[in-house]
Order: sequence, then structure tokens, then C-alpha cells
Amino acid sequence: MQYAEPITRLVKALSRLPGVGEKTAGRLALYVLNTNREYAEELARSLINVKDNVRLCSECMTFSESDPCSICGDDSRDKEVICVVGDYKDMIAIEASFTKSSAINIRSVYNGRYHILHGLLAPLKGIGPEEIKLKELAKRIGNHGVKEVIIATPFDGEGEATAHYIGELLKDTEVSLSRIAAGIPVGGSIEYMDASTLSRAMDGRRKL
Ligand SMILES: [Zn+2]
Repeated sequence: MQYAEPITRLVKALSRLPGVGEKTAGRLALYVLNTNREYAEELARSLINVKDNVRLCSECMTFSESDPCSICGDDSRDKEVICVVGDYKDMIAIEASFTKSSAINIRSVYNGRYHILHGLLAPLKGIGPEEIKLKELAKRIGNHGVKEVIIATPFDGEGEATAHYIGELLKDTEVSLSRIAAGIPVGGSIEYMDASTLSRAMDGRRKL
């Protein structure tokens, strides 16, 4: 026994979403089918709405309704400092983590802007410099009086390769380049750290 054709179509479309297997897609499709029409309409409208009304900010490449985005358009944020992240979710996480914590005022920790690469270098997956927003980063640095670039790509093979590439890209510029620190998480116990985390933490030590 198979799903009716319209359901099969929906299951197929849903199972293309990352992390959604065919079983989950089937469950979601049946949920939509069993719920009221308003919900289905709202879901369909929201899907089209993100495609029609969200674009890339022409400066930092973030997803935004407006161009420039609210961060690039905010004059109280430091134009001279850019934090480079692999994807949009990372930028949101950095902004949100400070906002959520009432103990830390984001502006005192980071008051610069961002650059979203929309991917990381991964030669084995066919992702080279042309496939991510590196050209846009180089152009931005050339044009806008940027003085400092902080690389906040992940500490894995792709994140490190991307950080290294940006280092090479900016080698002959006046820009001060840094990498966010890697090491022991707050509240973490040294006893349980792996060797590479410990050596990065030791390497990244700073004066008290
Ligand atoms: Zn922007």
C-alpha cells in the first residue's frame, strides 16, 4: 500500500530537507494533512515569503529583508572590525549568545560587523574559493577602511583551511588578522580534555 499521489509528492519534497529522512517526512506530511487548512496555508506562505523577501546584504552577505542589513546599517557598530563566519547560523549564534546572557553585554565583547562566507573550503567536496563569499570579503576589505578581521570559522579541517586561506588573502594588507581562541570551555574540566584541545589552549594562553 502506497501513499496517495499528493502525499507522496509532499513526502518527497520534505525528505529533501537536511536531516529529514523518508520516515520523518511521512510523519510531517500526515501531520499537515490532519491539521487545519489555515496551518497549511501559513506554512506554504512562509515558504514562498522567505524566497521572495529575503536577500543577501550586499556588504556582509547575511540573509536580510533590507540591504544593507540591520547590523551593517547600524552606525553605532564599528565599521573597522569584521568577524568572518562560515554560515548565517554562526552569526545568529554569536549575536544571540550575548543577547541571551544578561551577564554579558554584547557591545562590550563584540561591537563590529560580520562577513558570512556561506560555506567553508572543502576541496574534496568540490568547494573552492569561488564557491564561497571570499571575493566579496577581499573587495570589502579593499574598499571600506577595515582595520581588523577576526576569523571565527570552526576548528575542524574545513574551518582551519578556510582560516589559513583568508590569512594568505590578507597577508599583504594592513589589516590586523586574528583567530578566535580555541581551548577549554567555560566550566570545563582540564582532566577530560583531549590532547589537541589542551595543546590549542596552551598555545592560545594569554597574560593575566
Ligand atoms: Zn550586512
